[in-house]
Amino acid sequence: MEKKDIDWSNLGFGYIQTDKRFVSNFKDGAWDEGTLTSDANVVISECACVLQYAQTCFEGLKAYTTEDGKIVCFRPDLNASRMKDSCERLEMPVFPEDRFIQAVNDVVKANAAYVPPYGSGATLYIRPYMFGSNAVIGVKPADEYQFRIFATPVGPYFKGGAKPITIRVCDFDRAAPHGTGHIKAGLNYAMSLYAIMDAHRQGFDENMYLDAGTRTKVEETGGANFIFVTKDGKIVTPKSDSILPSITRRSLMYVAEHILGMEVEQREVYFDEVKDMAECGLCGTAAVISPVGKINDHGKEICLPSGMEEMGPVTKKLYDTLTGIQMGRIEAPEGWIHVIR
Ligand SMILES: *Cc1c(COP(=O)(O)O)cnc(C)c1O
Repeated sequence: MEKKDIDWSNLGFGYIQTDKRFVSNFKDGAWDEGTLTSDANVVISECACVLQYAQTCFEGLKAYTTEDGKIVCFRPDLNASRMKDSCERLEMPVFPEDRFIQAVNDVVKANAAYVPPYGSGATLYIRPYMFGSNAVIGVKPADEYQFRIFATPVGPYFKGGAKPITIRVCDFDRAAPHGTGHIKAGLNYAMSLYAIMDAHRQGFDENMYLDAGTRTKVEETGGANFIFVTKDGKIVTPKSDSILPSITRRSLMYVAEHILGMEVEQREVYFDEVKDMAECGLCGTAAVISPVGKINDHGKEICLPSGMEEMGPVTKKLYDTLTGIQMGRIEAPEGWIHVIR
């Protein structure tokens, strides 16, 4: 298979149309068998439930070329089960988890020429999503749905090393208690767009959202979970029902505990504790871990001891171990690596 002529290491994080995508339609109470298609366009009613009432959810994962030349995905079973949770909360039909994994496999295989080579730092980003497709004007769930998966090559998240970012404590809320913060719904992103653009306009890279109920506890950013390293070397991540359960964060916590032999805790983290942390990072599929150097709380700065030049030593160790597992340089825990075939 010949790779596409793409300057892999200079790719950004943007959409590039690839050859094939998966489409399956839900109608009369059942999913059809689904197919790979070359047609990148979606044609739906002007009154589709997704367009009127935002009935849609999505997933995000990556395919990589490993050191020994295999194409693999990282824990797609967890994306399948998280999408099931999202669908159930949004009154959408679940696309069966085994078929989800098979469809991810088929899309990557069909676009193998777009999977960046080992060592380029680039990856193939995979986007499964579902939406209510038939006309709905009274507020109720759709009867018909489309499930799709496309793939697009994306560049290395950190060009020239991971520079720590500056974030701010945000006055907007991301997720209500007992709301939809724990599922990957498009609506959570629509309402975060103003907050992130406002953060950028004020010179910050990201928002730190606090819990909407009391505004005393750390939740997450718009698209990544927090992990903290305490001064005595513990890994701590916030616990809350309105945080999206990041697969990267769950994997990093496992790596810390079972591979690196560190102490880990998932518990409520009060914002007041953050000033005493040694390191702070944002975890998600896109960056794996993006180090935080500074947190601005309404003009008061918290400067993490790890500084603004590079990742803290513990964050770096976690980052190197997880990316080593993903790229096939370090042996993976059972079931973490799905080889595309
Ligand atoms: C997708 C997402 C994450 C990261 O999850 P991963 O599974 O690690 O990619 C974190 N927070 C939010 C709000 C998200 O939507």
